[in-house]
Amino acid sequence: MIRRIKLAHEMGYCWGVRRALDIISEAGDPADPVATIGDVIHNPQVVDRLRAGGVDTRETISTAAQAGFQRVAITAHGAGPHMANEASEHGVALLDTTCPLVTKVQRMAQKLVNQGYSIVVYGDSYHPEVKGIIGWSGTTRAYAAKKLEDLPWDGPRGSKDPDAEIPPRKVAIVSQTTKNTDEFLAFCNKLSAWVLPEGGELRICNTICEPTYTRQNALKDLAREVDMILAIGGKKSSNTARLAEVGEQLGVTSYHIERPEDIQWEWLDIDGDVGITAGASTPDDVIASVIDYLVERGFEPPEEGLRDYDPEATPAF
Ligand code: SF4
Repeated sequence: MIRRIKLAHEMGYCWGVRRALDIISEAGDPADPVATIGDVIHNPQVVDRLRAGGVDTRETISTAAQAGFQRVAITAHGAGPHMANEASEHGVALLDTTCPLVTKVQRMAQKLVNQGYSIVVYGDSYHPEVKGIIGWSGTTRAYAAKKLEDLPWDGPRGSKDPDAEIPPRKVAIVSQTTKNTDEFLAFCNKLSAWVLPEGGELRICNTICEPTYTRQNALKDLAREVDMILAIGGKKSSNTARLAEVGEQLGVTSYHIERPEDIQWEWLDIDGDVGITAGASTPDDVIASVIDYLVERGFEPPEEGLRDYDPEATPAF
């Protein structure tokens, strides 16, 4: 029986990560290295390559400056406006590789605050992108949340409990760009039940980026066609872990792997096809190495091969 390898029609480096890597690689210089503040990418192979080219990583601008770096860089996830001040205080040059699709959300949050809205950022409170959006909103009325309990309110507007903290009349919600669309919409529904009573207004801005939602849709399509899914990406890559989780939710056994060596031989003991997807920070050569590994073990290579990168293509803003 023929067992094929099928590829998700959208996977691997997203537009913003590819753009940030191009900028930072060009700026890298072993004689005058630049430090990214936080991981530029969760892929150990790419991190090693960057380091050889004069691009290192530090947690903060102050630790980078103490280590002697003259240049620091904001990653594709973006950061709050305090970074520019910190860089000038420490006398280091600041390079900004923030994805323009993240910048759009930062500016939108600022604008909504100026229009009198309190802001909910649907996403992970610890994530640099979410912290950056909250920083740019420039208000204490901005909250990161993934569930209603994360918000400083106890119940819906119009609550009969005199001690209840209720939402203000005007609330706007934006999303971390990499979140799941279905889950974002489900959260917006719950939030609207808290905000809309008694003349409340909820402004919903779906800021999940095009590369993210096309990737989510591609995974749904792939899951219909295969018997097992390999989601390729660094062990620390949460968006790759999420792809494997969604694959499972779609009813297909799915594994998160970093390299071909992570594949256990018993996983390949299947009668059908294997599907491949990859996180936003997984380089093409790592995906190709997994395909080669499977071909050596008797799987038919994907008919269409790895899609070519189109440097002219720009996602919707
Ligand atoms: S996931 Fe979307 S917003 Fe984030 S870096 Fe990639 S393209 Fe930009």
